[in-house]
Amino acid sequence: MTHVLDGNAVGKRIRDDLRDSIADLDSAGVKPGLATVLMSDDPASETYVSMKQRACDNLGIESIHHELDADAPADELFDTVETLNNASEVHGILVQMPVPDHVDKREVLRSVDPVKDVDGFHPENVGRLVAGDARFKPCTPHGIQMLLADAGVETEGADAVIVGRSDIVGKPMVNLLIQKEPGGNATTTVCHSRTKNLSEKTRQADILIAAAGSPELIDGSMITEGTTVIDVGVNRVDADTEKGYELVGDVEFESAKEKAGVITPVPGGVGPMTITMLLYNTVKAASIQEDVAVDL
Ligand code: NDP
Repeated sequence: MTHVLDGNAVGKRIRDDLRDSIADLDSAGVKPGLATVLMSDDPASETYVSMKQRACDNLGIESIHHELDADAPADELFDTVETLNNASEVHGILVQMPVPDHVDKREVLRSVDPVKDVDGFHPENVGRLVAGDARFKPCTPHGIQMLLADAGVETEGADAVIVGRSDIVGKPMVNLLIQKEPGGNATTTVCHSRTKNLSEKTRQADILIAAAGSPELIDGSMITEGTTVIDVGVNRVDADTEKGYELVGDVEFESAKEKAGVITPVPGGVGPMTITMLLYNTVKAASIQEDVAVDL
């Protein structure tokens, strides 16, 4: 029987554990604070930010929100980040991506104080992750690591194939999976749009992580019996629904489920874990900055 992972349930368990850490911070007079900055009219970005704010509220994390016009000068964004870097009640800062074309994305990532960089995208944090000394593990790959651990999927010695090499999913995912630590020790292959014979690679996977942003790219014929399939993709495709679209993953769920040993659905798989790990990083950021030890 294929085991369909429930990211909502695993995420809820982790968030329940976080409540104890938040209570410990509270005893020391600290309330963790997460600032979100949105510089976009994109409805999807607006939705993501409001989901993150709601998740903070539910857990007792202070959420602070800054919204800038999409055509505002870049300096307005950098000034906002600078103010947040200096605000003692703000422990985590998240600038929702993508930012408009006239703003240099790399400069934005570098502008966030590394100890408040709860996305883990600042070059200092990327370097620490690669060096095996992560301060903040990027939320989506970290969430996947937690999902695998919760399901008892052994990464040590496993052949892990990752489809996608983005800075936010594919690259940090491979860097977590190759660390000499629990949740790591895998043998990894990273595929991308120039990869030849993709299905040859995906069929070799014990663990297949699809993060290509390409609707139902991976079907059952590309998977070997018993593979653990993690679908990161969230793609809007036209559909005869009230909204006129539906969300599908990078994996064709029905045919993949026939073969997979373990599989994540979309929605309800990786997505809830990403938000949970953002909250986790915010609590960790508060613990570091306020020098209050908590169990994480
Ligand atoms: P990007 O577009 O930044 O990267 C996509 C990667 O996939 C690129 O490396 C690209 O190759 C590769 N790729 C694209 N098409 C193919 C193909 N046909 N064959 C092989 N490789 C391919 O996407 P993200 O990493 O930001 O996101 C990936 C997906 O995950 C999206 O659907 C996104 O919405 C979703 N997502 C979901 C999250 C969640 O919490 N559930 C969080 C973050 C993202 P190349 O580098 O050569 O262009």
